[in-house]
Amino acid sequence: MEKKKDLLLDIDEVFCFPAFLKAVNDFLGTNYVIDDFTEYYIDKAAIPKERFDEFNRFIDNRNLYEDAEILPYAKETIKRLNEFYNIYICSSCINPFDIKGSGKLFSNKYDFLIDQLPFINPEKFIFTNTKYIFKADIQIDDRLSNFDENIETKILFPSYHNKDISDEELKKKGIIRAGYDWREGWIEIRKILLNEACIQK
Ligand SMILES: [Mg+2]
Repeated sequence: MEKKKDLLLDIDEVFCFPAFLKAVNDFLGTNYVIDDFTEYYIDKAAIPKERFDEFNRFIDNRNLYEDAEILPYAKETIKRLNEFYNIYICSSCINPFDIKGSGKLFSNKYDFLIDQLPFINPEKFIFTNTKYIFKADIQIDDRLSNFDENIETKILFPSYHNKDISDEELKKKGIIRAGYDWREGWIEIRKILLNEACIQK
């Protein structure tokens, strides 16, 4: 049997939306929805500069993965992908605006993942902020800067912050877009990766 291909799987904004948005809304008393934002860091976009430290202390007391929203079809598709691919979780845990308070993101994310994706061995969790250093056959991520050019199949997961990336730019970088709507990203990935997997079986 052919060796399974290695797949690097991003978590934030791909498997789930951590509860940053809820924290922002609770802190400001607002009702923002995720598609109100076009910048990756929604806290940076929404919180006034002078209240940023206060916001960071506010989220220090929260587990942002407790109320994380799992994206449609993510869990069942990853479970199915896991039959055909060797999945490594490759996920950032450092909040660049709260380096000192980021330690608990590692721990909260770890607990969340073993709970939500129990079929992936925790030995295959990579928690890092330098993703591009890791090699695999396939990578799924929502940020262009995380892709390594040597990875054969690079899939951009659609998100609120990457809608404006042009098809030309993606084509130039050899990146496939899994549609334009985060609600349907996993349906697209199913088409891209599971059709291929089924043929190879
Ligand atoms: Mg991400």
